[in-house]
Amino acid sequence: VLDRGWYVLGPEVTAFEQEFAAYCGTSDCVSLASGTDALEFALRALGIGPGKTVLTVANAGLYSTIAIIATGATPVYAEILPDKLLIDPTDMKRILDSRKVDAIIVTHLYGLLANMRSILLFAREKGVPVIEDCAQAHGASRQGKKAGSLADIACFSFYPTKNLGALGDGGAITTSRPELADAVRQLRQYGWSSKYQATRPNGHNSRLDELQAAILRAKLPHLDGWNARRRDIAKRYSTGIKHPKITTPGTHGEEHVAHLYVIRTAERDALKQHLAAANIPCDIHYPIPDFAQPAYRALFPGVHLPITTQACNEVLTLPCFPELADDEVDAIIAHINAW
Ligand SMILES: *Cc1c(COP(=O)(O)O)cnc(C)c1O
Repeated sequence: VLDRGWYVLGPEVTAFEQEFAAYCGTSDCVSLASGTDALEFALRALGIGPGKTVLTVANAGLYSTIAIIATGATPVYAEILPDKLLIDPTDMKRILDSRKVDAIIVTHLYGLLANMRSILLFAREKGVPVIEDCAQAHGASRQGKKAGSLADIACFSFYPTKNLGALGDGGAITTSRPELADAVRQLRQYGWSSKYQATRPNGHNSRLDELQAAILRAKLPHLDGWNARRRDIAKRYSTGIKHPKITTPGTHGEEHVAHLYVIRTAERDALKQHLAAANIPCDIHYPIPDFAQPAYRALFPGVHLPITTQACNEVLTLPCFPELADDEVDAIIAHINAW
């Protein structure tokens, strides 16, 4: 890339977009500067803006809320399933039946695919488009169909810690609706339809660098292998952890790419301290429901989602990445079981 001297929107980006679209099984991929931009542009491509309502969940790290609010639309939150912590299709349907919703963002949280069959069935009944947030689910698949190809348009992040990560920020949308891809291509470059001619409002500068695209092209062939290793680690944890106060996420097949391995306990602070005492790093994804975030809670005075709130109070993320060795996982399991 350096020798070529072409740093933005050049041959590496074009090749990566083709390769990632082929990997996901979509006609198009449009690379961007971040996953958050991908969410905002996907919404804008679907015509979301002021006066519109977008349904999502409140336990997925605020990303969708930020994108919805950036467009001028209003988020409405569905409750989550108490075991999988993914959107509850039944609650989603209840909301769709009770008010006008203009789009739905479904997050495949922690790398586990949501129940797209029910979600798409209920959404199609009302003619509501569905966006997948695949920022934690690169490569997850069900019946041969990959995350990113399961709804109208999908969003990815290539932040370094994601299952497919660049050496910096990056993102993309995938879709098999070329008109949505064209809209996002314009939005990522000032709203231009051709050079210096802006035909679409609300454009940004949001492009993936050539260097990052080249890194992602080198890493993409390893993604399935890394995901398999992550799944092995998750399985090792789920079969090894045996503690009356801890719930594990169980084991899953290819519909899970184990982006994060998240356990639950009502005594999270105590477990966190127990792990910290042995220098085992852990984190909380995510501690605050979107509707309770200090910057936004004034917008959501009446929101009460007990399953979401309880999950935010109980989740704890253990180390899970392909380079982690079996004996390291076993040592963490032993320390947890001794709690
Ligand atoms: C990381 C992430 C994003 C945001 O991606 P950025 O590239 O950091 O903007 C969006 N949604 C989910 C679920 C994520 O995990």
